[in-house]
Amino acid sequence: MSLIILTLPIFWVNKCSTPFIRTAQAMKTLHRVFGYAIVAVAIAYIIFAAPHIVAAQSHTVINAGHLVDVENGRILTGQQILVTDGHISEVGPRVAAPDGAQRIDLSDSYVMPGLIDAHTHLALQEMDGSDIDDHGSYYYASLIEDTSMRVAQGTMLARAMLEAGFVWVRDTGNNGLYGDVTLRRAIEGGWIPGPNMVTAGRMIAPFGGQFQMNPEKPDLGEPEYFYADSHTEIIRAVRENVHYGATFIKLIIDNQPYIYSVDDVRVAVEEAHDMGVKVMAHAASDEGIRNAVLGGVDSIEHGFNPSDETLELMADRGTYLVGTDFPASRLGETRYWSNVERNKRAHAIGVPMAFGSDVVYYEEGKTRGEQTIGFLFSYVDAELPNAHILRMATMHAADLLGANSGRLEAGRNADIIAMPANPLDDVSALYGVSFVMKDGHVYKEGGQFRWDIPTKLNNPRRKQPRGNMLRQR
Ligand SMILES: [Zn+2]
Repeated sequence: MSLIILTLPIFWVNKCSTPFIRTAQAMKTLHRVFGYAIVAVAIAYIIFAAPHIVAAQSHTVINAGHLVDVENGRILTGQQILVTDGHISEVGPRVAAPDGAQRIDLSDSYVMPGLIDAHTHLALQEMDGSDIDDHGSYYYASLIEDTSMRVAQGTMLARAMLEAGFVWVRDTGNNGLYGDVTLRRAIEGGWIPGPNMVTAGRMIAPFGGQFQMNPEKPDLGEPEYFYADSHTEIIRAVRENVHYGATFIKLIIDNQPYIYSVDDVRVAVEEAHDMGVKVMAHAASDEGIRNAVLGGVDSIEHGFNPSDETLELMADRGTYLVGTDFPASRLGETRYWSNVERNKRAHAIGVPMAFGSDVVYYEEGKTRGEQTIGFLFSYVDAELPNAHILRMATMHAADLLGANSGRLEAGRNADIIAMPANPLDDVSALYGVSFVMKDGHVYKEGGQFRWDIPTKLNNPRRKQPRGNMLRQR
């Protein structure tokens, strides 16, 4: 390339080099032409050669003894995965590994895409000992702890999630004043270990949010909730949220006697989608779910009481259900089995479903990550195929989040986990995750978590570029 650019001006000068025109003007032209040529060579060098010199590619070959083909619900034995610069570049019985590639031996393990939790609250842990009405326990947490304390707690919970095999989470509000955005930036910058995050910022809700206000202290729901009642306020709330770093908008639809209408939801969705940001809706009642679906949201959170008609509407429109089913020990048998029955109906009707936990409390002896895996069992009780449950927690959740993850195929981020037992036989195998790779970086190997304090830090952005979240990244 550079050779051609260099020879062109010489050829041109030779062509014009009769004694008659060998003048000072011709010499000037010659200089100018050589000047252009040098610039052209420099540009060509920057485009074609420099990147390869500046960043040598890193290659890792993983020997995957049992590769869990989540999409087709089967095990492929004796596979290899080639990871190049944080991405999967090839999967097959024998990949073309360059000389000097690093090797990771998982030949005795079951290897699958990293887990994704589409409904977390990393900066919320309920306070114990409260049994007042109106969601008392997390009301207390939001009143007593400031955002900085909750982010400190979130650094611990983020690490717990990654250690358990969760490589992506969608954090769904209840983070004080953008505590989730702070966590996301710290993780993206490599300051702390944790899953990649999608962040909701402040939850947008009709007056009162999810709390019962005291008329002498009407602001106690803030900053947890962003009250927005008119369409102008809703647009403002969406914009302000995105400005401060929300990468997904969350609406609270039906916690008050006055619920968001289809039109209210549509206003928020149009504003958010126009910026490339998706919208989720906290909705429990059939009417609330229906309004949110008709208003165009991307997912329904909780969705405890949908009619079959509403589930059919969700299936038709491709609206995800993120069930968030607390175990019976926490929720009581009646409500738990009602959720199990809803999962059966949703699956039979063909509603797209993504796994989301909603863990917000301690369970002695378990990390937040282990607790989260426990939330998969409402789908086991609903007798959904194990492969489908794994798809909900990998590829389906990735599609909802807009994350380039959830599948072991070329071009995806190298988000890979492994464990000694087969999760297709028993979902409990996920409790034994012994290997975790996120974006090509190993965080857990041989059951041991490892993380080195980085010597090169990034300063990650607060907000995402326009259109980012509707594209895969
Ligand atoms: Zn929640």
